[in-house]
Amino acid sequence: MKILVLNCGSSSVKYQLFRMADESILAKGFVDQIGMDNSVLEHQAAGREKINFKVEMPDHFSAIRAVLETLIDPNYGVVRDLWEIRAVGHRIVHGGPNFSNSVLVDDKVVAELRRIIELAPLHNPAAIMGIEACHKQMPNVPMVVVFDTAFHRGMPPRNYLYGVPYKYYEKYSVRRYGFHGTSHRYVGMRAADMLGKPYEEAKTISCHLGNGASLCAIDGGRVLDTSMGFTPLAGLLMGTRCGDMDPAVVYYLMKKENLDAEGINNLLNKQSGLLGLSGVSNDIRPVTAAALAGNPRAMMAISVFVRQILHYIGAYYLELGGADSIVFTAGIGENSSLIRKKVCSQLAVIGAALDEEANLNACGETVISLPDSKVKIFVIPTNEELVIARDTLEIVYEKNMGLDRFF
Ligand code: AMP
Repeated sequence: MKILVLNCGSSSVKYQLFRMADESILAKGFVDQIGMDNSVLEHQAAGREKINFKVEMPDHFSAIRAVLETLIDPNYGVVRDLWEIRAVGHRIVHGGPNFSNSVLVDDKVVAELRRIIELAPLHNPAAIMGIEACHKQMPNVPMVVVFDTAFHRGMPPRNYLYGVPYKYYEKYSVRRYGFHGTSHRYVGMRAADMLGKPYEEAKTISCHLGNGASLCAIDGGRVLDTSMGFTPLAGLLMGTRCGDMDPAVVYYLMKKENLDAEGINNLLNKQSGLLGLSGVSNDIRPVTAAALAGNPRAMMAISVFVRQILHYIGAYYLELGGADSIVFTAGIGENSSLIRKKVCSQLAVIGAALDEEANLNACGETVISLPDSKVKIFVIPTNEELVIARDTLEIVYEKNMGLDRFF
């Protein structure tokens, strides 16, 4: 069976087409700058050269049409006909209070996604457009939605409630949701495998460190706690997001800088984090290069980031009552040996001992702790698209939709 995975952003669509028999990627790519003059489609079929071309894409409907046309193109496509694609899995950032698992798309699901748009005004509308565009262009193909928030729904109330009047939890569902759930779920399962321990027994601290970043405490396959909150602005400082701080700063800066709600939202989401502190970039590579060259603000930005990671590792170690492993994943977690080293050099107190050489040479799934380290340290490349494809297969297959699993 071939499954298309789509990740629709406000002006982009990323896609991967999987052959589920061996979970291989037949093609992947993305469409950028939807709605602008210079929309581009980048496409790569397995084992072939990457190609780029300009396509007119005023909206998500035309973007998805361009993706589907590319997939069946006689020159660079990978399927003969769209009927070969038996299901579509959509990544959805926010599932709100009611979705605790991936689900098959129907009218009720779309209505609930619309109802919770206020919780993710930048992300969910694009995902809904993606669902509608697929429905129009592949009307009989079942679709599944997989939520970034769903994995975190098992958190106990003591970890998801905020100290604001309870009526706002009841009235407006104000609570910690947590994000990157698909990534934390994937690396949590891989970590248990690498430990040789049943997933149901493994205690894992997962560090998803990318442009967006969050930590997650996973106890036996269930999330105990996570650093992002009501929105992905909370927790660690990130590329351009501020992360945790005294909420009074919001009111104070609004007054001092004469900002309205839109203005402060933009400042905290787009101008803060590594970018705001270092003044160099939102990208850890130039920030690291500047720090190594002696730029004091870049050095400080990295120190703040590392301290915050340690803050959560410490908290989660206690909450979990110990940990079997600490996992680094996503762009920074997978690639920055420097950040991993700075974090791990302070973990001896919990019995996690870094193997410096393994850390420096880490590539793909790697153990980077010393053999006698009580807490193992892993680098595990995340694979959210594969989780979405697997969930889609399972749901479409389990619903007994008359599809042959290995079509
Ligand atoms: P992501 O959001 O997961 O794509 O991660 C983006 C972050 O990963 C950016 O801060 C990048 O600088 C960082 N990153 C990507 N590749 C590397 C690399 N080879 N070395 C260090 N950082 C990297």
